[in-house]
Amino acid sequence: MRRIRNAKVLATLGPASREPETIRSLFQAGADVFRLNFSHGSHEDHRNTHAAIRAIEEDYGRPVGILQDLQGPKLRIGKFKDGSVRLERGQAFRLDLDESEGDDKRAPLPHPEVFEVLEPGAPVLLDDGKLRIKVKDAGKDYADCEVVTGGVLSDRKGVNVPGVVMPISPLTKKDREDLRFGLDLGVDWVALSFVQRPEDVAEARKLIAGRAGVMVKVEKPAALQCLDQLVELADAVMIARGDLGVEVAPEEVPGHQKNIIRACRLAGKPVVVATQMLDSMVQSPAPTRAEASDVATAVYDGADAVMLSAETAAGHYPCEAVAFMNRIIARTERDAFYRPIVEALHPQPEATAPDAISAAASQVASTIAAAAIVSYTTSGSTALRAARERPTVPILVLTSKRGTARRLALLWGAHTVHTADVRDFQEMVVKACRVAVDEGFASPGEKLVITAGVPFGTPGATNVLRIAWVDK
Ligand code: PGA
Ligand code: MN
Repeated sequence: MRRIRNAKVLATLGPASREPETIRSLFQAGADVFRLNFSHGSHEDHRNTHAAIRAIEEDYGRPVGILQDLQGPKLRIGKFKDGSVRLERGQAFRLDLDESEGDDKRAPLPHPEVFEVLEPGAPVLLDDGKLRIKVKDAGKDYADCEVVTGGVLSDRKGVNVPGVVMPISPLTKKDREDLRFGLDLGVDWVALSFVQRPEDVAEARKLIAGRAGVMVKVEKPAALQCLDQLVELADAVMIARGDLGVEVAPEEVPGHQKNIIRACRLAGKPVVVATQMLDSMVQSPAPTRAEASDVATAVYDGADAVMLSAETAAGHYPCEAVAFMNRIIARTERDAFYRPIVEALHPQPEATAPDAISAAASQVASTIAAAAIVSYTTSGSTALRAARERPTVPILVLTSKRGTARRLALLWGAHTVHTADVRDFQEMVVKACRVAVDEGFASPGEKLVITAGVPFGTPGATNVLRIAWVDK
C-alpha cells in the first residue's frame, strides 16, 4: 500500500474514532500516524486503541506510528458555586489558593507555582483566551485582577499565563504515570506539552531513554525564545497552534509557524503543523476554502506532517477529514509551484559522510530520473538526512528495526519497510530492487539510487552510494 504524497497525516483518536473499524477506515483514507491524546480517555481506552492500531498494521504489513501526547501542566481554574459566573469588563476578580467554590468576586486557581511568578500588569487568559483579566496586585497565595474582556466563565476552564516562565516541569505526576504506561504499551513517539526550557526536554529524554522519539510541542512564548536549542534536543517538533494562538496574538501565529518549520527543516527534524486545520469539519462534511489553503500552506512550506485533532477525535466526519487532507496534500504537491517553493529553502549538507551521501543521492536521483532513493538505515538517522534534502523522488527506507520503521511513518517523503539486514553488496542491490517493485515504487528497467553503510549489519555511518537497474 503506497501513498502518493510526501507530507504525512497525523490523526487524533477519540470518542468519534476509537472503534477498530473506524481506525481502519482512517488508515485507508490516509492516516500515517495516530495520536493518543492523554488529556482525555482512560488507560483502558488507550490500551484498546493501541491494540487496534497494531492489528491494522499487521493486516496491511505497513508500519504505523503511534504518538502519545502527554497533557502537561495545563492550568485550570477550580469550580464555581453555581457552575459558572459572568464577569463584566472593569470589575475586580481575585484568583487564590482557597479551595472553596468560587463566585463573581473570586475563584480558586489550584496551582501554587502560578502565584510565585504573577506580577502586576501580567495578563491572565481564561477559557482559551475568550476572557482576559489583568493582575493589579499579587501575593504568594492570591492575585487581585481587573477584568479586561468579560464573559461567562465556568468550572475547570483552561488558564493561560503567557507573559512568564513558570517554575514547573512539563511532566506532572499524571504525565509521569501516563508516560510509564505509554512506554510499556510501546508507543513510537511521546509529545511533551507546554515545554518552556531546554531542561524540560532533557528531563523527559532521560525518562524515555530512547524507547520512543521525543516530540516537543511549541505552544509557549518561552519556547519561542529558545527555539533553536529545543529543536536541537528534540527528535521532532509540533507547532501546537491551539495554545500558541492563545498565548500569542493570532496574527503572530503564521510567522512563527513559518519560522519553526524553517528551523526544523534546517536541523533535519520532522515538524508537524497542528490544530484547527480542518476545524469546520467537526460539523460539516467539507472544509472551508480557508482551511484547504491552510493545509496547502503547510505543505508548500515543506512540513513533514499535518495534524487533525477534534476533526477525527470528536467530529461527525472523521474519515472525510482524513480523506480531504489526503486530497489537499496530493493536489498541492502536484502544483507547478510546489517544487520551487519547497526548494526556496535548501539546507547545506553538514561536513559528514551521511550528509555528503544524502545530498549526492538526491542530486543523482534527479539527474538520472531514478524511480526512488533506497535508504538502508538502522536508527533512522540516514533517512532523516535523506528527507532533509526534500528529494524529487520518493525515499524507500529499509530497516531491520521495527521501532525505526514505525517512527519514520512521520517523515516527509519516506515509505518505510521493515526487513532483515543485508550481508553483502549483491544482496543490498537485489533486495532494494525487489522491495521497490513489490511496494510499487519501480518497474523493470528503471533506476534506483541506493545508500547504505559498509560493513553491513553494523549500525554506523552511511558511506556508499550505488546506482542500480531493476532487472527486466
Ligand atoms: P492540545 O495541543 O490539543 O493537546 O492542546 C495542541 C495545541 O495546543 O494546538
Ligand atoms: Mn496544547
